Amino acid sequence: MRFASVILDIPTQALDAPYTYAVPEAPAEAGGYDVEVGCAVLVPFGHRQAVGFVVGLQELPDGEAPAGIDAAKVKPVVRAVSPAYFDEEGAACAQWLSERYLAPLSSCVRLFTPPGGVPRMVRAQAGYWRLEEPAVGEVDDRWVLPGAAFDGFEPRKNAVKQASIVEALQAGELRVAELAAEFGAVSSTLKALEKQGVVRIERRRRMRGMAPDVPGAPAGPGASGASGFTPSPKPPLTAGQASALAAIDAARERGAGEVVLVDGVTGSGKTEVYLQAIEAVLAAGRTACVLVPEISLTPQTVGRFRGRFGDTVAVMHSRMGAGERYDQWDFIRSGAARVVVGARSALFTPLANVGLIVIDEEHEGSYKQDSAPRYHARDVAVWMARRAGAAVVLGSATPSIEALYACAKDPRWHHVELPERANGRPLPAVQVVDMAKEFGGGSRSMFSRALSRALAEELAAGRKAVLLLNQRGFAKFLLCRECGFVPECPSCSTSLTFHERGNFLICHHCGYRVTAPPACPECGSPYLKKFGAGTQRVEADLRVLLDATPGVGPGVPIVRMDADTTGGKGAHQRLLEEFAAADAAVLLGTQMIAKGLDFEDVTLVGVINADTMLRLPDYRAAERTFALVEQVAGRAGRAELPGRVLVQTYEADAAPIRAAAAYDRALFLRDELPKRRMLRYPPYVRMANVLVWGKDEEAVRTSAAALYEGLAARVRDYGGEGWDVLPATPCVLAKLRGTYRWHLVVKCPLDGDLSGVLLPYFRARKPEREVNVAVDVDPDDLL
Ligand code: ADP
Ligand code: ZN
Ligand code: ZN
Repeated sequence: MRFASVILDIPTQALDAPYTYAVPEAPAEAGGYDVEVGCAVLVPFGHRQAVGFVVGLQELPDGEAPAGIDAAKVKPVVRAVSPAYFDEEGAACAQWLSERYLAPLSSCVRLFTPPGGVPRMVRAQAGYWRLEEPAVGEVDDRWVLPGAAFDGFEPRKNAVKQASIVEALQAGELRVAELAAEFGAVSSTLKALEKQGVVRIERRRRMRGMAPDVPGAPAGPGASGASGFTPSPKPPLTAGQASALAAIDAARERGAGEVVLVDGVTGSGKTEVYLQAIEAVLAAGRTACVLVPEISLTPQTVGRFRGRFGDTVAVMHSRMGAGERYDQWDFIRSGAARVVVGARSALFTPLANVGLIVIDEEHEGSYKQDSAPRYHARDVAVWMARRAGAAVVLGSATPSIEALYACAKDPRWHHVELPERANGRPLPAVQVVDMAKEFGGGSRSMFSRALSRALAEELAAGRKAVLLLNQRGFAKFLLCRECGFVPECPSCSTSLTFHERGNFLICHHCGYRVTAPPACPECGSPYLKKFGAGTQRVEADLRVLLDATPGVGPGVPIVRMDADTTGGKGAHQRLLEEFAAADAAVLLGTQMIAKGLDFEDVTLVGVINADTMLRLPDYRAAERTFALVEQVAGRAGRAELPGRVLVQTYEADAAPIRAAAAYDRALFLRDELPKRRMLRYPPYVRMANVLVWGKDEEAVRTSAAALYEGLAARVRDYGGEGWDVLPATPCVLAKLRGTYRWHLVVKCPLDGDLSGVLLPYFRARKPEREVNVAVDVDPDDLL
């Protein structure tokens, strides 16, 4: 008798263990699926049926049942309703994720299922459920090919459409859709031609989002046509790149899940190192997975990989439509894809035989998922690589403190440095501009004299500038000069952002919107001052500045890139192209411009406000500030022309800013590490952030207090030396979208079994109706 362990696809904590079902002896019906690990199955559950995923199979002699299971009570699986989505390794990973991140098992298994959904049970009417197939699946295109009677076929004189189609087919096969676009309705003509054997019509799988006739797109499985890639030439490696590659190859050949941190300044050629490391892993018959921050997944980035590995590259990110992602997922499962380039979720695609996992811009916050399971891609990659005997490559110009620390302490982590740019160009000089002094000197402009002068010089000479407006923890708001009142969102505890255009106040979190009051609602004073500046306002001021600058003037375009201008599909790309195409131009944007931009003629980078993030009450604020300034500085002077960087700040003396300006990481760490050690933050401890939220403030507070009692007792009994639970407090963002948020932080020594101690407590805890609780293990911030 065979038994299946099944995770029910019902996301509640109470159901959080696999259930055992018997596997029917009879083989699947024709066209049906076999019950195997990784497939979705329909099983009896209470008075109805439910969908679940098979995570294990066990064969036992007749009459026996798995330990702890009463054979008489085991119910049989109704039937399998999908092919296998994952294998035993995927099942093991889901189990591990669930334990490590204290997440519902179903949410972890879901990571491995195809984009566009899985079969699910829906309530059709009271008491009646039915199985619904996922809406997204494969699509076919109809293709027209020359038939047996094609050669020598002469259309009749007045058969114009026939003649046109036959003529078009001389150049090779075509999609029906293309013919229709060119010649109008073609189906009856095609039917006639097909009857005479002049053409054949064939159905072929279409890869959405990658029309095979678009240059640079891969043919994909089942699609036809030669794939026209622009091959990326393979330069001889610099000495630094060669030793990085050697370290990666050695780690890979040891096959023990080792990590190589490629710590290379911007433009040092890290991507070239990845490309050649991947080439080696492919030559060894294995595959590679490359993770890139979502925002850097541009056609250029993908193009570099396709230029080297052609149509064996699959791409996966959230800006693609569900259909496109489904096609790529299926392409990976088919085994034809050898390299996957994608955002963090690409880790869970069905890529077989992975030999190398690359994580570019390893320090990026977007590698941590902010909903269950709250995994960190770096930690998952290391776990996967150990299991698979693969290697992990982490790349960054500003590695996370955790990664640097692991390299220093763990012999399985290796650190290689690329201190110079691949083209030998120097890193641009960075000048810190003290805005407090400017202000003291009577200037009220958001552009310092030094920055204005630099803009004038570079733009007048026909070169380009990038300006960064740091927007995290910063937005424009109203403040009453008489009583200090700041308008806040009624449902979130955040000040409302002022929008010049339209004169309204808006909440960034929930979208609440009101007209800006002409006078203070508290005291009636008309002196409501606008504080801070959004990108719109900076753009307006910049326009005025440029228009008044001799030799620059109104002709110079300002390309603004922020959440407002990049909302639409492809907007991000279009703005970058606009900037690239211009002669002299300014790219003005938020954090999203700090990464990966590689424009040859950018000679000036300005940071308008380097310190706003420093003021965020979070332990990672200094690290983020240092990284951001260093990253954005790297956008200047990447090619022939030398670059310069101006960093405006009200905190010119702050260590992260001074250190970034001097490219002096040691200086930054000397300032930062003692603080982390003293205040007990990573990398010296591990943390779990227990979040408690709900609509009822009192219920949230009570619940958080009870959790503190429970966790303190648990940690006292099962933790030990160096374990700590901090009393519950409101979060920095104490109210968000109408819910009240509290949290408590658990800390333990680096080698402490954080999840192991907390898991039984949370599994045993009864969920409350009004209050939600989530545990964020190894949180990225504590906001
Ligand atoms: P990073 O990823 O470290 O920022 P890139 O891989 O983007 O750096 O490389 C920066 C530039 O240097 C690119 O234009 C790349 O083509 C070029 N480059 C990389 N390696 C070499 C090399 N060995 N010789 C010459 N040019 C190189
Ligand atoms: Zn007032
Ligand atoms: Zn709000």
